Amino acid sequence: MEYEAIIGLETHIQLNTSSKIFCSCKADSWFDGPNTNICPVCTGMPGVLPVLNKAVVEKGALLAAAMNADLQPVSYFDRKNYFYPDLPKGYQISQYDRPLAKGGWLEVPLDGYQRRVGIWKLHLEEDAGKTKNENGQRMIDFNRCGVPLVEMVTGPDLRSADEAAAYLIRLRQLLRWIGVSEADMEKGHLRCDANVSVRLKGSETFNTKTEIKNVNSIEAVRAAINKEIERQVREYERGGKIEAWTLEWDEDTQTLKKMRSKETEADYRYFREPDLLPVHLTEAWKSAILADLPELPLARKARFIGEYGLPEYDADLLTAERSLSDYFESAVKAYGGDPKRVSNWLLNDVMRMLNESGKIAGELSLTPAYLAEIIKLVDAGTVNTNTGKALLDKVNESGKSPAQLVESEGLAKVSDAGAIRAVVEQVIAESPAEVESYRAGKVGLMGWFVGQVMKKLQGKADAQKARELFEELLK
Ligand code: ZN
Ligand code: MN
Repeated sequence: MEYEAIIGLETHIQLNTSSKIFCSCKADSWFDGPNTNICPVCTGMPGVLPVLNKAVVEKGALLAAAMNADLQPVSYFDRKNYFYPDLPKGYQISQYDRPLAKGGWLEVPLDGYQRRVGIWKLHLEEDAGKTKNENGQRMIDFNRCGVPLVEMVTGPDLRSADEAAAYLIRLRQLLRWIGVSEADMEKGHLRCDANVSVRLKGSETFNTKTEIKNVNSIEAVRAAINKEIERQVREYERGGKIEAWTLEWDEDTQTLKKMRSKETEADYRYFREPDLLPVHLTEAWKSAILADLPELPLARKARFIGEYGLPEYDADLLTAERSLSDYFESAVKAYGGDPKRVSNWLLNDVMRMLNESGKIAGELSLTPAYLAEIIKLVDAGTVNTNTGKALLDKVNESGKSPAQLVESEGLAKVSDAGAIRAVVEQVIAESPAEVESYRAGKVGLMGWFVGQVMKKLQGKADAQKARELFEELLK
């Protein structure tokens, strides 16, 4: 029997505002000690009042627009009541029936097809604190209380662990692209719970689902979902039943453990937050926010294919990250020639520099204009390809222009026939054994001969000319 999985993801996204959602405490405490970024508001002291951070609404609205969601002209905050030691107020300020945005979707390209993953709604809320066990004591850190979050729940639209992982990869790309979150799963900027059920392929019913919590990397999401699909199929195969468990992923043992059963919505006793006004997203404010919405990754990818004639593979890599795709476009404009040639230099050589330095493209001293200049120097025959590649690092390290470096370091290609001939003759005179082997038929030695000339001319020789001269003189 063939089964298919039905998967929905609940994601919590930490917005990268500088302060928290209802007070002026610093939002990001990753590098700070416990309980250093807290105040009476975010620790729920009596008599304090929350004040909404405007930037949270703006970043949330930008994300909603990028997710094709309908921004609501009026939204409200509500109290979600539950007791837990990391929640000092005894309730979380969230949005319930009147969220910031409703509906929406994200297109997820997959191997040979595309999946449109719907979301029900997008709402704003505050994060809770963190508890941990240390030296037999229960410790609480309130730094994360009041950190702004967006919660988005997808429809049951994903059909495999790989599709769920692909959704998260595209969501992370989008969040970074529009600049609303660092989206680093390891740091908890992007958190994900997965709802999983299985059914016989072709069936239309939804079977009982389980919820997987505590997965904090994309690989963990993939592994945990696959484990749970296998378990449910095994259970159905032996005639068993699936119960609506909440499961916790244990990264160390790569296993799922049953947690306490989850509260139902009624248990939360939602009601309007009386200390906050409704959010009126006026047309003027909305237009001002949406003016910052950039061309999105998949649209840009399609344009790179259409406008520049790039293969899909190149276009996908070049739009993986916004800074890189901006860099590519600037370099193409400065170069004026075949965009594919710029793509090759970028994906082969500049990508290496990015990986080695941990920088993003826009941070390199090798600007797009300098990259274009180097390719043009190679095209014009002023420098050979080797020197051109070496120039990338030299420009990036010194910040000097390629032309300046060619001049000051004497990097121009040696293509003067007389000069190369002299060196070629010298190599032949110094290498009687290799000459003999070559003449006896070992033509593969040609590369070695040309290499010797390169060595003597500090890599600046016109390799083609040297090759032709060897062929002529060794005949
Ligand atoms: Zn605070
Ligand atoms: Mn939530």
